[in-house]
Amino acid sequence: MKRVAAIMFAIAIAIPATAQNAATQQPIRPMPRPQDAPTAAAPAQVTPPQAVEETENVAAPSRAIAAKGQRDLLRQDDATYASCLVALHDLAVVYEEVVAVVPEDDVDCGILQPIKVSEIAPGVALVPPAVIRCPTAQALASWVQDFVLPAAARLDGRGALTAIENGSGYTCRRRNNEDDGALSEHAFGNAFDVMGFRFELGSPVMVGPGKSQDGLARAFQDAVWASACLDFATVLGPGSNASHEDHLHFDIIARKNGFRICELGAAIEE
Ligand SMILES: [Zn+2]
Repeated sequence: MKRVAAIMFAIAIAIPATAQNAATQQPIRPMPRPQDAPTAAAPAQVTPPQAVEETENVAAPSRAIAAKGQRDLLRQDDATYASCLVALHDLAVVYEEVVAVVPEDDVDCGILQPIKVSEIAPGVALVPPAVIRCPTAQALASWVQDFVLPAAARLDGRGALTAIENGSGYTCRRRNNEDDGALSEHAFGNAFDVMGFRFELGSPVMVGPGKSQDGLARAFQDAVWASACLDFATVLGPGSNASHEDHLHFDIIARKNGFRICELGAAIEE
């Protein structure tokens, strides 16, 4: 087998609305699940069965913040936040509000209105649950509902989609895990990494270079990867760079003029 070319499409698309606005303007679907209705209950304590890095910096919400950082700038006003939670309810997302993530040693990292999402669509778990911002969850839920579930239904022999493997939600780190440089969108709860997809029957589809997958799994990965560019401001995956060979990275960063970066880096072979 000879590799002919590795094609990288880097598409910067000008979109009038900001990524966050785009995320909050998704159509609401009539999928009432009263038991998941957002409530005004006090934020629950975080129980950390998931990746340690997602909760290790959790602190009490009443702790004073010395200076304004990126996490403060990303705080939604109460009405916007409430409407985001309603959108999650309408998308049948299972989540809980958790205490603010406010690491003392960094004024930028953190989430002032974090939620922990355990089910992103009916019957589709996030494994482990993800601590992210509400608009990130809304974009992820819209993508799963509109693109992943229909694509999964075309996969023969695997049955229903049951889970999406969570590579990373919130974590205070820099881009590509480097020691310096800009903070990753993961550091603000704006990003989610998809490692793979689990099904009721048959083998999971793990994200990877196309050559590692059978034809139908490859088609599924390519379909859901490309469609994510409609819901997220940044989409990276295998072929983007060495640190994304085994997962898809999605985030909702708000760039000037609504620019998006959509990298579809699957290798073409013959
Ligand atoms: Zn990522």
